[in-house]
Amino acid sequence: MTPRLRLQPEALGVGMTSQRVRDRLIERLRGNGITDERVLNAIRVVPRHLFIDEALATRAYEDTALPIGHGQTISQPWVVAKMTEALFDGAQPRRVLEVGTGSGYQAAILGALGLEVFTVERIGDLLRVARKRFRSLGLNVRSKHDDGRVGWPEEAPFDGILVTAGAPALVDALTAQLAPGGVLVAPVGAGGGQSLLRLRKDAEGHITQDTLASVAFVPLLSGLVD
Ligand code: SAH
Repeated sequence: MTPRLRLQPEALGVGMTSQRVRDRLIERLRGNGITDERVLNAIRVVPRHLFIDEALATRAYEDTALPIGHGQTISQPWVVAKMTEALFDGAQPRRVLEVGTGSGYQAAILGALGLEVFTVERIGDLLRVARKRFRSLGLNVRSKHDDGRVGWPEEAPFDGILVTAGAPALVDALTAQLAPGGVLVAPVGAGGGQSLLRLRKDAEGHITQDTLASVAFVPLLSGLVD
């Protein structure tokens, strides 16, 4: 399938953010087991350097998480790739919910793949900056400032749900907003690290679960911050 990438060529950068530097990241992701060409292509074209502070831009195409302020991080590209790939396991998803907008990078990857994206962030400052990025890249991402643990009931059900902050347990309200045939990916675990879990809901609503990787996300927290 040809990916439907909705970015303008002007979004592509130069120098340390050049296509060559990005291609190196893609090869690294391939080497670490990412195989979905649609996902790799989205990571190739979405300018990750625009989702972090300029001072860190030279590190944008390293396969590492980076600080984005407010004690939060933009996820490691491999983790973004793995979570996105997991969404495309079953039927072609159409509507996807992300909990934890952060920099907006994961949402932008989903948007570049032609998905209808809904994303929720509890820190208003981060959300405002992410929204500017969506606008300037011409991405159609709907977002709200809320506690994402309640999901987005008015827009449910979703074919895919990505939780990009770690919690000690799965959040039932989110699983409930998954459509039959849908996939939810969430980092779950107590303490420092989490297991990246993938839940599948079949046509009858039965849930099966497997583990994709060991990960270290910032915590899923309650309450809103301006
Ligand atoms: N997906 C992001 C990664 C963000 S880090 C990216 O691509 O950059 C996790 C984010 O989840 C943080 O911005 C944090 O503020 C947010 N978060 C934590 N708990 C949340 C909650 N209950 N609801 C919404 N967002 C939450």
